[in-house]
Amino acid sequence: MIDCIFCKIIKKEIPADKIYEDKNVLAFLDIMPINEGHTLVISKKHYEDFLTTDEETLKNLIIAVKKITKAVLKAVNAEGFNLGLNNKRVAGQLIPHVHFHIIPRFKRDGLKHWSGKKYKENESKLIASKIKSFL
Ligand code: 5GP
Ligand code: ZN
Repeated sequence: MIDCIFCKIIKKEIPADKIYEDKNVLAFLDIMPINEGHTLVISKKHYEDFLTTDEETLKNLIIAVKKITKAVLKAVNAEGFNLGLNNKRVAGQLIPHVHFHIIPRFKRDGLKHWSGKKYKENESKLIASKIKSFL
């Protein structure tokens, strides 16, 4: 895609701190890290988001994510990590090119887990059956 920042990184038109590359996947450091070592894993082919990405590419991405995560955790001595994938603007997706975030986590890094709400009576049963009806 002509105006896509991540496609420009793939084409080496803009620089990035690359850490992994193969036929299908590229990984580089996020320019505004949530924690040090925050890494983005993207497909080399442009897809707008997770749902429009083909199955083979998703497989390649997730296998690369696992491999790269192990290296990231060792490099920054992190105890754990969050794996993120924002889909569409409403969910915080700023770059419409499918990518996973590997976010290393440390004790007392100040990040908070998102909080949960409560369902009203029977609401969860209704929503569960509605979701099942679309599968
Ligand atoms: P999204 O919100 O789309 O899930 O995440 C996009 C991420 O890309 C953000 O965390 C942002 O910091 C990162 N980002 C945006 N532009 C650039 C760039 O030019 N280079 C790098 N390395 N990361 C970028
Ligand atoms: Zn792109």
